[in-house]
Amino acid sequence: MSKFWSTTVERLTPYVPGEQPKLANLVKLNTNENPYGPSPRVLEALQMEVAESLRLYPDPDSERLRGAIAEYYGLKPANVFVGNGSDEVLAHIFQALLKHDQPILFPDITYSFYPVYSGLYEVGYQRIPLTASFEIDVSDYIQPNGGIIFPNPNAPTGRLLALGEIERLLQANPDSVVVVDEAYIDFGGESAIPLIEKYPQLLVVHTLSKARSLAGLRVGYAVGHPDLIEALVRVKDSFNSYPLDRFAQAGAAAAMEDHAYFEQTRRQVMATREKLVADLESLGFTVLPSSANFIFARYKERDGAELTAALRERSIIVRHFKNPARIAPFMRITIGTDEQCQQLVSALREILR
Ligand SMILES: *Cc1c(COP(=O)(O)O)cnc(C)c1O
Repeated sequence: MSKFWSTTVERLTPYVPGEQPKLANLVKLNTNENPYGPSPRVLEALQMEVAESLRLYPDPDSERLRGAIAEYYGLKPANVFVGNGSDEVLAHIFQALLKHDQPILFPDITYSFYPVYSGLYEVGYQRIPLTASFEIDVSDYIQPNGGIIFPNPNAPTGRLLALGEIERLLQANPDSVVVVDEAYIDFGGESAIPLIEKYPQLLVVHTLSKARSLAGLRVGYAVGHPDLIEALVRVKDSFNSYPLDRFAQAGAAAAMEDHAYFEQTRRQVMATREKLVADLESLGFTVLPSSANFIFARYKERDGAELTAALRERSIIVRHFKNPARIAPFMRITIGTDEQCQQLVSALREILR
């Protein structure tokens, strides 16, 4: 604390990102990055960009990238907003579309940036407990609210909410913005994007960090009715006109256009996940059903922090959340390559012996 700080800064509780260790040779399964590199077409697009002029500002409207995203989903560029990672897109959503008189609703176990943005933008919120099986029950969200936000699949549980349930939620909430954060949808879920034509209050958020292997490029987007998109553009143009640099725009557009590479890598991650789940279950772990590129697993009532520390001693990093108490036995494990997952299974077998 310092006398120079504003009261806003004093009150903040910032998000704590997963560790990015400086050590080499670690098996890094803690921040849900893709174990495979981005499409070779992305690398080509970046090289072309180096050859061109970095002297000039990038396109403030990211038109080519928004066109590529719209084309992928059969939508119009006016349905698409892009930002510097989906975290930035989410931040603008909190400020532009979720700040109303009533509190917003989100699950008690969910992406921990939601309470952080609520704090930053002074958005009131109410946490809705997941069921005993760590699922979202849509009936709990049928109550007065200033907006609704949740990841699907949820993080860090990996559990998927069926599209029919999302539609039931939208029908019950015609006057609230409903944000579905689909950071992990391409690992086995069905996207709510086709529902935006029918529900003008629906905003679907995606990232290129996970299924498209571009966490380092920082690109995310929101898809919805043009009125919702316009609200986000107004915030962006009051904050930073150029959130996506030339590399981000060119690389992300190339990633959206390489369908074959995307299909191949996401299927590989899903196949590795199924094998890892089977291996952990045979060791006696309980693993929640996952539709994401990570799993949430526990060994009986053993403390997840203790197992996480034991793995770390063997150069394997996974993520542990100590709050709320009912998730303390779990570890969140990112799906790596087959080889990395084998190393994890061997290490756990040794630890439990
Ligand atoms: C990873 C993640 C994001 C953020 O992704 P970036 O585009 O890298 O900022 C957003 N929401 C959820 C649920 C995530 O897991």
